[in-house]
Parts: sequence; C-alpha cells; structure tokens
Amino acid sequence: MTRNAVVVGGGIAGLAAAIGLHRIGWEVTVLERAVVLNDAGAGISVQANGLAALDGLGVGDQVRAVGQAQGSGGIRVPSGRWLAHMDAEGAARRLGSPVYSFRRADLHAALREALPPGCLVQGTAVDPTELHQLPADLVVAADGVHSPVRSFLFQDHPGAVYAGNTVWRGITASPVRVEADIDQTWGRGTEFGSTRLRDGRIEWHALIDAPEGERSGVPREIFGSWHDPIPTLLAATEPESVLRHDVYDLVVPLPSYVASASGRPVALIGDAAHAMTPHLGQGASLALEDALTLAAYLADAEGDGDGDAGGSVIAALRRFDADRRPRTQAMAVAARRTGRIGQQLHGRFAVALRNAAIRVTPPSVAVREIVKHAGWTPPALAVSRA
Ligand SMILES: Cc1cc2nc3c(=O)[nH]c(=O)nc-3n(C[C@H](O)[C@H](O)[C@H](O)COP(=O)(O)OP(=O)(O)OC[C@H]3O[C@@H](n4cnc5c(N)ncnc54)[C@H](O)[C@@H]3O)c2cc1C
Repeated sequence: MTRNAVVVGGGIAGLAAAIGLHRIGWEVTVLERAVVLNDAGAGISVQANGLAALDGLGVGDQVRAVGQAQGSGGIRVPSGRWLAHMDAEGAARRLGSPVYSFRRADLHAALREALPPGCLVQGTAVDPTELHQLPADLVVAADGVHSPVRSFLFQDHPGAVYAGNTVWRGITASPVRVEADIDQTWGRGTEFGSTRLRDGRIEWHALIDAPEGERSGVPREIFGSWHDPIPTLLAATEPESVLRHDVYDLVVPLPSYVASASGRPVALIGDAAHAMTPHLGQGASLALEDALTLAAYLADAEGDGDGDAGGSVIAALRRFDADRRPRTQAMAVAARRTGRIGQQLHGRFAVALRNAAIRVTPPSVAVREIVKHAGWTPPALAVSRA
C-alpha cells in the first residue's frame, strides 16, 4: 500500500524530508506558502553531519557540486590579530568531510531538483486548524522558526523567543580575494563572519545586540573600521541586497516532536522543532539529520511488517522523537552558550579574559568541540526508488 505524506514548508528541512519520503516509496506533496521562492538569501554552511545526512538521502554529490569546501579559517579581534587558527584539516580527517558553504539559493535549488515533478506546490499556506483534513497518512511540519503548526499543536508552549541580537547578511557582487575561507571576528557584543563561496564571491554576516525590531543603522557604521577585508566586503556588496533579520530560538524545549491533529500523525522537524541561534552554524545540518532519520525510521517500521499500517507510522514517530529530541535540544543549549561567550560578551575585562583563553587553547581542543557537534552516524535508508 502506498502511503501519502504532506510536508508543510519548502525550506531545507521540508525539501530534504520530501526527498527521503519519496526514496522510501511514499507519495509526497510539499506545500509552501511562498509564491516566489526567495530562498532566504545569502549563504549557509553545512557541516559533516549535514553532509552525511545528504549522502544518506542520496543527494550528497549533487549538493556538494554547488558548494565550496572550506579549508582554512579562525577567529580574530577587530584589529585583525588572530586569536586562533582552525585546524580544518584535522577536523575534516576526524569527521570524514570538510565544512561546505553554499549560496542558500543554490542549496535549495539542488534539493528541489532531487524531487519528483509536481511534488512542490508553491503559494499554498497551510491552515494548521485544518491539518486533519489533509489527504495524508502523515503530516511533516517543516514550517520554520515561527511554525504555525507548532503554535497550534502546542498551545501552552511560548514559541520562539527573541535572542537579543539581529543579523545583517550579504554576498559580494563579485569575487574578492581573502586570506581565509572561514573568517570570524569577535568584538564586544558584535561579530563579523565571512565565508568563501564556490564562485569566489564572499558571503558575510554581521551580528549585533539590539532591541527586537530595531532597524536603524547600517553595518558600515559598526564594522567599517574593522580589519581587512571587512570594509572591502561591505563596499563590494550592493546595499539593497543586504538582508536583516532578528534572531529567535526555542528557549523552552518542545515536550515532543510528534503530535496528533485530530488523529492525523504529525512530525515536527527543522526549526519548527528546535530553532536555535546561529552561533554553532548547525540549524540546517540538524534539519537534514531530522529528514533522513524520519524517512529511515518510517521505512524500518514498515519493513517490520506487523500489518498495522497506522501503527507502524506511530512506532516510527516515537522512535524519531526519542532519537532526535536529546541531540537537537542539547545543541540549542550549546548554541546559546556559544553566543554568550562569543558575540554577546560585552564587558571589556570579560572579553579580554575570553580572548586570552582562546589564544592559549590548543587547536586539538577546538577540533574536539567541532567533532562533538558535527560527529553523527546516519541511519541507513532502505531505499525503494531512486
Ligand atoms: C543568520 C543565520 C545564519 C544561519 N547560518 C546557518 C549556517 O551557516 N548553517 C546552518 O546549518 N544553519 C544556519 N542557520 C540556521 C538555518 O538557517 C535554519 O536552521 C534552517 O534554514 C531551517 O530550515 P527549515 O526548513 O526548518 O526552516 P525554513 O528555512 O524557515 O523553512 C520553513 C518554510 O516553511 C514555510 N511556511 C511557513 N509557514 C507555512 C505554512 N503555514 N504553510 C506553508 N508553508 C509555510 C516558509 O515559507 C518557509 O519556506 C542560520 C540561521 C540564521 C538566522
């Protein structure tokens, strides 16, 4: 019997889940409210765990083909003095892969290309009060940080909370030569990071603490006097292409990543389940892990063949929840903590202490931290169609 799934949201989580469900033989429809896909702009890095999930979904090579492997980098202070150089090769050796950076639009397009024709329906906003009417054995809520599905199903949950910082993101209009692939600079309550893209252009982000909704100021005023190449990157970016977003995360963890909408099973994945601050750069990689794990466990449960179609979906969802919640919620806590000791640290003395600690920390300790987060063993996907 062919099963049907409706995925709410066509971001990284939703597209990847649809690929996995299609591969295990389900009929999948992705409903995306945006009429025009703007793909959230700027760039994104996917770490070894996210790449392992993409490999498990069978699309790792296609996705890597539009990305750029990152080989060098580190942390600096605004004068340009390096606090630490990242042992990227050491980390890649331990993890089996370097970090890859993408233009978000390229990553989204590569995922969309792996879907069967007609699977993605744009311009359809799902009303969460009508989930039970969707023609599906399973609803996958991949509707992002402000998930309407989560708000409806978990009405006592406070939802995503403003993290106290706002971010500008941009991509230079043309290639710029830079010293390091991944360059991160921490000031006092401020951070500027940049990453080299495949075509030599540079994607950058600039984070500051600010009241929610604050829209005054431009990055040049704060970061224009920082070390090279920061002023060059800002000058090389079309001002009207620069994005600005406030950062939100789920401070109160969700009690479950599975729920029922009047009897219709629902699985929450990606930011809908565990939106976190960007300080570990793990949000998308975890969303990809969720997608592969969900599909793998659904395929396993069907393979167990107890003849109870609904029961096997419920069993798979319970296993998914038990597996995914501890890892992703621990990562959200770690991301928040990294922000507090990194970008969000303000005091002159505290910043000086932190910088001194980073300078004396051996690169092997930093590699251990990276491996702790990006080390992940993907479940095998019992594929029934290419
Ligand atoms: C500044 C910043 C930098 C980041 N950098 C990184 C990074 O380098 N690496 C990394 O791994 N992560 C990073 N992240 C996190 C990462 O962007 C997210 O974790 C990831 O994009 C989440 O994907 P998603 O599919 O869950 O959500 P989204 O990408 O938000 O997709 C949700 C989709 O659901 C749609 N939708 C919403 N409601 C409905 C509805 N009712 N009906 C239909 N569709 C609906 C939306 O239109 C949207 O397309 C960063 C985040 C920020 C804020």
